Amino acid sequence: MDKSRLEKGGFTLKGINLALCENPLPPIDEAIEAAKAQTFLSNHYTDPYSWNLKERISDYVKVPVENIHINAGSELILRQLFLRFGRKVHLISPTYYLFEEIADRKTHTFLTEKEDFLFDIRRLEIPKDTTLAVIVNLNNPTGTVFDIKDNIPLIDKHPDTIFLIDEAFIEFGGKPAADLIFEYRNVIITRTFSKAFSLAGCRVGYAIADKEIVDNLNNHNDAYPLARTAEAAAMASLEHRNKIQERVVKLKELTTDFAASLQDLGIKTFPTETYFFLGKIPHMSADEFTKALSEKDIHIRPLHQEGLGNNFLRFATSTAENNVRVLDAIKEVFTNKAGRVSAQ
Ligand code: PMP
Repeated sequence: MDKSRLEKGGFTLKGINLALCENPLPPIDEAIEAAKAQTFLSNHYTDPYSWNLKERISDYVKVPVENIHINAGSELILRQLFLRFGRKVHLISPTYYLFEEIADRKTHTFLTEKEDFLFDIRRLEIPKDTTLAVIVNLNNPTGTVFDIKDNIPLIDKHPDTIFLIDEAFIEFGGKPAADLIFEYRNVIITRTFSKAFSLAGCRVGYAIADKEIVDNLNNHNDAYPLARTAEAAAMASLEHRNKIQERVVKLKELTTDFAASLQDLGIKTFPTETYFFLGKIPHMSADEFTKALSEKDIHIRPLHQEGLGNNFLRFATSTAENNVRVLDAIKEVFTNKAGRVSAQ
């Protein structure tokens, strides 16, 4: 198939895709209805700086509109920030793979299996000449929390470093750090509607930062980045946050059950606060395992990050029904592997 016609990450929508950390639940009904209503008005332009949405976000994160920049997905904003500030980057590994890809000069702090990939952020040591320190809270791919909010001495110690706090999954746990921007001009927070709000396909992300940084991002913005439909879906989702919160709880329950079933199959799973988590495969490499599953149209991301063995994967829960299919497929893969090993 023509590669350019595949979905992000190289997969089609066929089968079960756990590789992209998408929310397995569809957008809430109110978001779908609001977007639908806007399709009828789509002969009209959208508002270039998304003021209506910005006001709702401002109310949600308790930060003035002048400290908020909206764009078509947080990845786009993150790339902009790396271009501006990423001369020398410090990452906490394993991290969101995009950062490994777009950081040229970088140093790492490695999370370890021995400590279940948990980390007390007070122990973070950042080289002196670091221009950009990236803290993904909650972390992807581990799903764990870094308590940056209550550990401000770290920021005080590095006034010349920009602290980029990626809060793509903050609705699932941890403490939001938005109010740090009132005290620290070197703190930038990015967020998205792609995860808890189930709107990855709408492409709505935002940054919370000092006004000077926000103005700079706004002034270099592509014109009219958000479609009317996307704005409407995001606004409706914010308006019905109680529903989003209920779904967060539901996803966490599904995650606990799914991880327990994987453990029963001999896969070691690690603690998480989100709907995805690390897993360690017995007796085979992550590549072999994911290839066998992808032949059954189930797509999982193997991890190839420095410091990890070759048998780590990021699992994500799907719906209860899909999880049963995934578990059955894994059982089959393990049975076939055992058969091949004993025939040798
Ligand atoms: N940050 C993290 C940690 C992510 O996992 C992702 C997407 N997987 C993003 C940012 C980008 O999200 P989006 O561009 O959809 O807003």
